Amino acid sequence: MAPSAPLPLRSRAAVAAGRAVAGASKVARLGTGSVVGGNVALRLDPGLLRRLTAGRRIVIVSGTNGKTTTTALLRAALATAGPVASNALGANMPPGIVAALGRAEPGAAAALEVDERWVPAVLEAVDSATLVLLNLSRDQLDRSHEVRKIAETWRAACAAPAVQRVIANADDPLVAWAAGDAAEVVWVGTGGWWTLDASGCPACGGRIVFDADGWACTACGFSRPEPSWALAPGHEVVVHGEERIELDLGLPGRANAANAAMVLAAADGYGIAPAHALPAMRTVQSVAGRYRTADIDGVSVRMLLAKNPAGWQEAIDMLAPPPRPVVAAINARIADGRDPSWLWDVPYERLAGRYVVATGERRHDLAVRLRYAQVDHGVAESLDGAVAMAAAEGDDDAVDLIANYTAFQDYLDQVGREP
Ligand SMILES: [Zn+2]
Repeated sequence: MAPSAPLPLRSRAAVAAGRAVAGASKVARLGTGSVVGGNVALRLDPGLLRRLTAGRRIVIVSGTNGKTTTTALLRAALATAGPVASNALGANMPPGIVAALGRAEPGAAAALEVDERWVPAVLEAVDSATLVLLNLSRDQLDRSHEVRKIAETWRAACAAPAVQRVIANADDPLVAWAAGDAAEVVWVGTGGWWTLDASGCPACGGRIVFDADGWACTACGFSRPEPSWALAPGHEVVVHGEERIELDLGLPGRANAANAAMVLAAADGYGIAPAHALPAMRTVQSVAGRYRTADIDGVSVRMLLAKNPAGWQEAIDMLAPPPRPVVAAINARIADGRDPSWLWDVPYERLAGRYVVATGERRHDLAVRLRYAQVDHGVAESLDGAVAMAAAEGDDDAVDLIANYTAFQDYLDQVGREP
């Protein structure tokens, strides 16, 4: 691909100003500063996103769950073919993207995580992109009305001429419908299991029925597209029904195996074969603090993030087997969703047989839910207290922690953001 054209003076000044502000806010301990800096740069040059993306290979990753991890895997895969820029820390709206690209060398590819609400706006600003669409589920209860609306905006965005190719999850009916008008779709079978948010057909409002073979609408016949890449039991990916590839990732769980299958399909579209991509993807073992293990007062704590019912389902799949105790942390700040009644949609019954300690600002709501799920549990006010209480019920000084968004960020601050 041709190297990108040099940026005009105004854009260069905007990038430099953004970087200066980002540096200052980093010193002032306002996070990484990249969003603040990106905001400043975009105000100085509103056309900056288009200019910074011009002449690059752009791959956009979006979905309710797994964006950050999938983007990290994608970055590793694309990096086998040359330099890659990425908003790797989850700053996934235009300011964060601009900040990431402002640091990138000319011609570097870009693996971009994009908030699901911002996909159309970002696509409007790029000349050409591959789109990786993972899934769509309710983020929290009070945002449920948005899921269908987002699917509609995705469907329109997928049909835009800038979209060269969509890598789409064939097992999520909302994603399948959203990708339906794209010029080229590569379907990936992920073995979907979170069906609560898609029981209404996105095409006709009829009822979607899920079974072992997939899903179909009983009214209009809209059904699961035949995937060319498919996740099979044992964390293998089957390509075109023939070639079998063993994933053997450094990240736990079925959800990450599904994310990796999406990445393999995306990388293959750029001529990067699975045999090249996978060794690089296997080096990814922790993403923005997720899956890392921290030491808290001599207890080894593995940190998992789960922001919504589908995310909890995935995280429960990643837990070490019983009797490993679990600390579950729930806040209900703005970024988490104020209304924690979505806890009733999480299958906490699956934690039965483990000892669970509820913590976080909404620990008492969680404790009520655990009681109804008949899960043996305690309640602790602080992370340290919760870890100690949980570890006392285990046998190897190791605990799995699942936290929702702001609780996870608080704990990362507490244990240190770098391993
Ligand atoms: Zn239908």
